[in-house]
Amino acid sequence: MDLYEHMGKELFRSRGIPTPEGSVAFTSDEAAIATRALGGRSVVKVQVQVGGRGKGGGVELCDSPEAAGTAAERMLGSDFEGHAVTRVLVEERLPIAEEYYTSFLLDRSTGRYLALVTAEGGVDIETLAVERPDAIRRVHIDPVLGLRAWHVRELVGTLPVEAREGAGDILRRLWELVQEGDASLVEVNPLVLLDDGRVVALDAKVTIDDNALTRQPRVAELKDQFPIDPVEKRARDAGLQYVKLEGRVGIIGNGAGLVMSTLDVVAQAGARAANFLDVGGGASADTMATSLEVILSDPAVRAVFINIFGGITRCDLVARGILEALDRVEADVPIVVRLDGTNAEEGRRILSQAAHPRIVTASTMLDAAEEVAALANGEAA
Ligand code: GDP
Ligand code: MN
Repeated sequence: MDLYEHMGKELFRSRGIPTPEGSVAFTSDEAAIATRALGGRSVVKVQVQVGGRGKGGGVELCDSPEAAGTAAERMLGSDFEGHAVTRVLVEERLPIAEEYYTSFLLDRSTGRYLALVTAEGGVDIETLAVERPDAIRRVHIDPVLGLRAWHVRELVGTLPVEAREGAGDILRRLWELVQEGDASLVEVNPLVLLDDGRVVALDAKVTIDDNALTRQPRVAELKDQFPIDPVEKRARDAGLQYVKLEGRVGIIGNGAGLVMSTLDVVAQAGARAANFLDVGGGASADTMATSLEVILSDPAVRAVFINIFGGITRCDLVARGILEALDRVEADVPIVVRLDGTNAEEGRRILSQAAHPRIVTASTMLDAAEEVAALANGEAA
């Protein structure tokens, strides 16, 4: 779960990490009042689950309560890169001497955490990593051994001497948030050195592991505050197990295990899945129609892969279900269908007789994956 900045900062404060003083505003009046309470000047920041707000007009430095009200007025109800802005964070203006960067992230490929620090903060870290990788200090942390004193020394060693103690203290507390708070990512960009020598977290990007929410009840309660994805809601209401992913191949399968291996085989074929969707035991026309509707409403989807293994579910019924669904739902992308198991031949015969212009049948999972990957990647298959 990706937290809003103000939620991340609350977690920071609960662990003694210095952050600017501030409060959340849902209206422009609240933003003006908050600014008055801060002495008449403030920073107004949109609260969305994406970054890049500074560049995108989502952060405004304000010199009066009226200016803060106007900024909040402009931001609230607007759309920041597809994310509805329902609240802003109003914070004190701090005299910044220098901007740094630090983050901890779970590196699943090595089973360790990766900690990063650079003295060149406030910039896009991905760009810096490509253009000047030497400017970033990296330390791998074994989850069992934890963050050791020499890790901290190595990391803060890239910062000016006067910032090292404050930054080191913050690193140790961020690590506690990772371990005890089940954060899979904490990123502070910028981490700032103030004119008076204090080191403060000016931004907070925190992701809490969804699988750990049962033991983080206070964080789990925040879930209701995020906008619900309309596609996910529709799927949930229809009793489907749907998870949105990043790729272009829409996936429908029956059984969580089969769907998981379908994602793998699509990846192996060189494409990426746009979703996980398990239709469960039955694959009736109704279920198929809803599944296709859900998947086709995702504009990223270039091709669909329906992968059904008939056990109790009979493939001939599934085939009829798919055809009936296509009477109701207009498909503007190709649909690769692989049927196996009970009555699979009958199912495939039904599909080929129907000769639907969008349906391509495949007899093995690998064939189907290669076909759908080629279609999604825009290669002539
Ligand atoms: P992001 O672009 O979404 O990561 O938003 P940030 O919270 O990192 O803010 C973007 C930039 O706004 C920072 O890098 C700072 O340069 C600037 N900024 C944010 N808060 C303050 C502040 O209190 N004082 C000053 N002078 N600049 C600020
Ligand atoms: Mn930032």
